[in-house]
Parts: sequence; C-alpha cells; structure tokens
Amino acid sequence: KTDHTQIEKLEKAINELDPKEDSFKDFADLPISDITKEGIKANHYSVLTDIQAKAIPYGLKGSDILGAAKTGSGKTLAFVIPVLENLYRAQCIGKDAGLGAMIISPTRELAIQIFEVLYRIGRKGHLFAAGLVIGGKHLREEQDALVRMNIVVCTPGRILQHLSQTVNFNVDNLRMLVLDEADRILDMGFQRDVDAIIDYLPKERQTMLFSATQTKRVSDLARLSLQDPEYISVHEAA
Ligand code: ADP
Ligand code: MG
Repeated sequence: KTDHTQIEKLEKAINELDPKEDSFKDFADLPISDITKEGIKANHYSVLTDIQAKAIPYGLKGSDILGAAKTGSGKTLAFVIPVLENLYRAQCIGKDAGLGAMIISPTRELAIQIFEVLYRIGRKGHLFAAGLVIGGKHLREEQDALVRMNIVVCTPGRILQHLSQTVNFNVDNLRMLVLDEADRILDMGFQRDVDAIIDYLPKERQTMLFSATQTKRVSDLARLSLQDPEYISVHEAA
C-alpha cells in the first residue's frame, strides 16, 4: 500500500534540498523512503561513497547527470537509489504503471549485477516488477515479460530489437534512463544502437550517464542524451 503521507514529506524534503550546499554522509540521513533505507541497511551499507554523496541528491532532484568515477567507487547505488525513489514518489511502481525506468549496461554480466543490486535494495518493500532483457532467452519469452516491467535492465542491442519489433512494448511512461559504463558502451561499438534507442524514448525524462573514464566520445554522447546536466566527477586521492 502506498504511504501518501510519507510521499508528501519526501516531496517537501526534496524540494528543499540543495545539492550544491547540502551534503550527506550516511544513507540514513537522505530524504528517501523507509523501504529503501531498510534495503540499504539490510545490505550493511551505512556511509555513502564520494560519487554517491555527490550524485544521489541531484538524482533525487530529477537532474540529468554525467557522473565519472573509477571502477569500484559505488556508481551502481548512485543511480539505483534515485531510480527506486523517483519512481516510488511518482507512484510509477506496480502492475499498471508501465515501464518507468530503463537501465542500459554494456554487457550481460554487468546487467545481471545491476539487477541483483536493484533487487537486494528494493524488492522487499517496493513492489515493482523489474526484469533483465539481455538476450539468451527466446525473444517471445522476453516480450511477454517486458510488458509488465516497471524497470528494465538491458543491453543495447537486445532492447533495441524489442523497441523495433515488439508491438505492444510501450515506453510512453518512461521517465528515467540510465546509461551505465558509458565508456564501455561506446568502446564496444554501441553508439548507433544507443542513438536509436534514445529516438524511441520520451524526450521529457531524466537521464543519468555514468562512466569510469571521461572521454571525448562520452561527452559527445552526453551532449546527445542529456539536458543541462550536472557534471560530477570524483578523483580519489592516491
Ligand atoms: P562501480 O560501478 O563504480 O564500479 P559498484 O557499484 O559495482 O562500483 O560498487 C563496488 C563495490 O562497492 C560493490 O561491492 C558494492 O557493494 C560496494 N559499495 C558500494 N557502495 C558502498 C557503500 N556506500 N559502502 C560500502 N560498500 C559499498
Ligand atoms: Mg559499475
């Protein structure tokens, strides 16, 4: 059951949030739902990493983000938490809500890892339907599952195949797009697929692009997919 009082409180807290000034050290202090906090606690996370501390407030605010931080710095939660929370507050979770978020990953293995984090943090309380669309199954099986998903974690080639071929795959309600490991997506030659995917999606949406490195091609992709983004980069001291 949706807790409207909590949602109103969170909306207010996020309206008042100033990502430039406010800084958060612990997940417990973030303006996020109790359900997500419980998921975080159950996984023994307590202190935010640098990229999480810088990106999550902007993510919760609905800003477009270009986030760069090296491998192992905790980028997954930096987008998983805003995805869960923004869909929750907008009440875009549940059977009839449609697809609210698409998370694109360069490889099947990475997609599976993201999916596992999403489930570990969110599944117990947020009753969303999430799915993996990474190939390796019959197209038909994926098609049937896709139409029920609120969040899809996918690889570029496969999701593009569905966007162009699956007749009842509706993305009109999509409000969040994540491009994870954007540098690898480009290195692997998926630029055209990503461009084509973006053409299918609503223009009015939040896009978060994360990358381990900042390259010219990543900033070119950012120019194409992001609107007035926050540039967040973390260089850890050696
Ligand atoms: P990246 O995508 O930047 O390479 P990941 O999101 O895969 O990094 O996280 C790397 C590791 O750090 C994972 O094992 C994850 O569980 C752990 N981790 C992420 N955030 C935190 C945190 N706030 N506190 C402790 N460990 C964390
Ligand atoms: Mg990662």
